[in-house]
Amino acid sequence: MIGEILSFVNIILSVSILVVILMVYSVYRRVYLLWFILSFSIVPFIFVYSLIWSPGSPFKMGVVVYPISVIIIEVSMLIAQKNLIESIKSGEEEEYKMLLRDDIAILRAYEHLANFFIGRIVPLIGTSSIKELLESRIEKHPVLSGSFVGVDERLNTRALEEIVGKIEVEEISLAFYELISGLLELYSAFVPADKAIEDLRKATEKVMEKNAMIFDWIAPIVLFKTVLEPVLRKCRQEDIMEIAIMVNRSKSGIRVNKDGKIDVGMLYKEYPEKEKTDFIIDKFIYALNKMRPIIQQSIGEENANSMITSNFRKMPTNIKERLYGEGLVEKLPKGILEEEKVTLMSREKLIEELVDRRKKLENAYRELAEAELGKMKATFLDVVAHELRTPLTSIKTYVELFKKGKLGRLTKTQKEKLEIMEENVDKLTNLINDMLQIPSIDIKELELRKEKFPAEEVIGEIVEDCSTLLSEKSMSVSVNIPSSLAIQGDKNLLGKAIKNIIGNSIKYTPSGGKIKISAKMEGDKVHIKIKDNGVGISEDEIERIFDPFYTGNEKEGGMGLGLSIVKNIVEGHGGKVWAESTVGKGSTFHLLLPGGKND
Ligand code: ADP
Repeated sequence: MIGEILSFVNIILSVSILVVILMVYSVYRRVYLLWFILSFSIVPFIFVYSLIWSPGSPFKMGVVVYPISVIIIEVSMLIAQKNLIESIKSGEEEEYKMLLRDDIAILRAYEHLANFFIGRIVPLIGTSSIKELLESRIEKHPVLSGSFVGVDERLNTRALEEIVGKIEVEEISLAFYELISGLLELYSAFVPADKAIEDLRKATEKVMEKNAMIFDWIAPIVLFKTVLEPVLRKCRQEDIMEIAIMVNRSKSGIRVNKDGKIDVGMLYKEYPEKEKTDFIIDKFIYALNKMRPIIQQSIGEENANSMITSNFRKMPTNIKERLYGEGLVEKLPKGILEEEKVTLMSREKLIEELVDRRKKLENAYRELAEAELGKMKATFLDVVAHELRTPLTSIKTYVELFKKGKLGRLTKTQKEKLEIMEENVDKLTNLINDMLQIPSIDIKELELRKEKFPAEEVIGEIVEDCSTLLSEKSMSVSVNIPSSLAIQGDKNLLGKAIKNIIGNSIKYTPSGGKIKISAKMEGDKVHIKIKDNGVGISEDEIERIFDPFYTGNEKEGGMGLGLSIVKNIVEGHGGKVWAESTVGKGSTFHLLLPGGKND
């Protein structure tokens, strides 16, 4: 049974591996892939056949088949590996994409760069000097051993490919950096220095195009060799010496020789794990700032700045863009790449402005939407309320006529039902009156209705009004308001606001609870506190209780208009209303209203 399950899994696995490899093969058509097919899928098939040969005892046959399969796997893996290495060496483009191994790709890119110069020097001097150069470099960097300049005048790195992965990219880079510097030196013995630098620019641009991964590893060569070195060469001999002494003494990892050649090999040894580009830029800026005063003294300030600027502009585009993008330009001293600085700055400013405008637009839009919504809500409520009021008035009138017996005699049940109808009509009328309070209060109209009235009086009246409700729930109320306190405003509206709050305190406090109402002067405002020991309001609710139609308690609560009316009235008077609460312990509502002392 286990054998059968295993063989079933085997079939599924082999078939899927087979399909995947065949798909890859259809794109990359490499021989080693066929060997992989053999090792990954044919062997499991042998297992399956072994089961068919002896269905009763799968493991017996397996004893023979297993070692054979292992041998086949080993052999085909070896052949596949050999094929793989061979196809890497043939340097075909697809292999780059296929492998995606940083170190091999970087190695290839360096090889490309070196071959570019070998191809140029060989017609001038043959291969002998180049071989010599390579040998001297191999001595210094054993990593390069196994590399050779072949009969086709190309540098081949057979040994390197085999040890890739075992050595650091930094080491490979350093070895190649020194090799390329040497080749460049050889080359500039035959062509003008400017041409050699121009060719270096071209070659690095091409290498970067093919493999952007190499950026951090060739950026130092480009920056120091193509931007700074040509300027140093234009300086007077004694000034170069002075620069060399000063730079070499600093611990920057940068060396300048007496001919003005810059050596940045040490930088590769100090390369940080991350943010290599920042590191290169900082080192470059440091060296530039150190050398600049002497360069300026030697060839003139204007001249120095314009030469450095033009060398920057001539850098390979793909390298330049990356360096500019990483903030090189902003760090450059005054007088270098000024135009670029302005462009970059104005671009940044433009972006800032755009972001700012966008924010403003968003705010304006939101305000507009809110205002529109507020207006719509107000109009809607107004229309609904008015439209409902007319039919309600006529219903109420008829109900009254019925009750008074003006429209014929009624039975007892009819009378009872009529009572219920009247109660509900009253409730509806109250609700509509509430709804009519929601639209913002007309401030001008309010001004006319403002008066000064004693706080104690109006609150006393409200408590009196609620007395039935209070005694039904056996609740007690304590009122502590100095008789001298007066509120300034529309007595009717403010009374309604305070009543809504007290009404809620009764509604949301269980029987036997307590309500405390107190007031005191605070500056020119009257601060009223209405405290209950009821159910309380949760933290996330407290923000919303003043919103129209928000009701936290579907069963107990009403339409959720009470507190929004309060807010409307209070704010219409230039006052404030807020609540504090702890769930289970109770709530305190605060009202800050314009007021003063009684006359
Ligand atoms: P309604 O009482 O009609 O639901 P309100 O606008 O008067 O509407 O109140 C909104 C919500 O605020 C209520 O549903 C309730 O959840 C909460 N609330 C108001 N006052 C209190 C209070 N004193 N104690 C606990 N919750 C309250």
